[in-house]
Amino acid sequence: MPFVEGLRCRECARPYPAEALHVCEWCFGPLEVVYDYEAIAASVSRERIAAGPLTIWRYADLLPARPDGAVDLGAGFTPLVRADRLAAELGLGELWLKNDTLNPTGSFKDRVVSVALTKARELGFKVAACASTGNLANSVAAHAARAGMASVVCIPSDLEPGKVITTAIFGGQLIAIDGTYDDVNRLCAELAGEHTDWAFVNVNVRTYYAEGSKTLAFEVAEQLGWEVPDHVVVPVASGSQLTKIAKGFAELATVGLIEPGPTVRVSGAQAAGCSPVATAFEAGADFVTPVRPDTIAKSLAIGNPADGVYALDVVRSSGGALASVTDDEIVEGISLLARTEGIFAETAGGVTVATLAKLAAQGVVRSDERVVAYITGNGLKTIDAVAHRAKPTATIAPTLAAFDAAVDLAGVR
Ligand SMILES: *Cc1c(COP(=O)(O)O)cnc(C)c1O
Ligand SMILES: [Zn+2]
Repeated sequence: MPFVEGLRCRECARPYPAEALHVCEWCFGPLEVVYDYEAIAASVSRERIAAGPLTIWRYADLLPARPDGAVDLGAGFTPLVRADRLAAELGLGELWLKNDTLNPTGSFKDRVVSVALTKARELGFKVAACASTGNLANSVAAHAARAGMASVVCIPSDLEPGKVITTAIFGGQLIAIDGTYDDVNRLCAELAGEHTDWAFVNVNVRTYYAEGSKTLAFEVAEQLGWEVPDHVVVPVASGSQLTKIAKGFAELATVGLIEPGPTVRVSGAQAAGCSPVATAFEAGADFVTPVRPDTIAKSLAIGNPADGVYALDVVRSSGGALASVTDDEIVEGISLLARTEGIFAETAGGVTVATLAKLAAQGVVRSDERVVAYITGNGLKTIDAVAHRAKPTATIAPTLAAFDAAVDLAGVR
């Protein structure tokens, strides 16, 4: 059973019941799930978790929905791999990569969607909906199919074919909208007012959805032998994932799964073509000024991030930093990760690796730290971003002579 006491406004702390509510009617602050941590501490243990499924649902005690009957395609428990070759390139010491490209629909969104739709079904919803930069649409369509729910997902019309096709195949309604993600999101907020019997994953059930990202912290700690890293680097779109990773690490100490220790430093990565949070960080501002996105990192292209100020706060209070990288640096980041570690990430992964490189060069991420970088999406969905530089070495006639002329033998020695 989940140990949920209710919801609470993050700003004014007013309590609300655990229903499909996401914003305080008093001050418009976002609502957060409140848990009975004492009861969780009495129930949870490393052994109990180890005996659970190899999915996010092994941490059900710290999630806001019931694990029996979960809408589950197997999200989570992705590999945490040591990355010595990449570390050497970047002048770092102990570097790990959380390889979330290996989720069922190829991105970390499967974590949040599994939690959101499980809760939505619990609350009696039969239709799943969302506004998406691509990966969320993909994951909602897949999980809705799995759950036998109808789905209505809205995306900007300029998304990569690799995200449109992989969403449409699941047979729900996919509405492409001529506008930016922020336009799509605004429309969905209006739609949520009209269709109160639809579960909008990132509107009326956003409070539950967001909790799924905590599993990115839980898994890393468990995979490090119940220790936390010194520093994590996280890509930022709405800022939800980043804030919940920090919350996840804190909760582990609260319920006694790890020893309380120094706060994990949390750094954020954005694309220069959509960097409202990094820009606020660099300016020392405590508000986030919306921008109009223009970047190949479409999954991170949210110009008006809902959790931007909270992400800023987490980064500052943990002693991390936020930085942004150009589209060229993103492509170089994808390529560097692929050739050093054998992981093909989408553009968001390129943002993370390139930002990690930048923060390492600046001495913000240090070589004496145990570092985890979150690689949140699969490169097969954004092949267009690298197609221009990922080609056959040569195309030849099927003869030895042609082969010898073409292959770089020095390169394979
Ligand atoms: C959505 C997304 C993110 C960022 O998520 P937020 O919680 O909105 O900050 C990061 N990486 C990928 C691949 C995504 O699809
Ligand atoms: Zn409030």
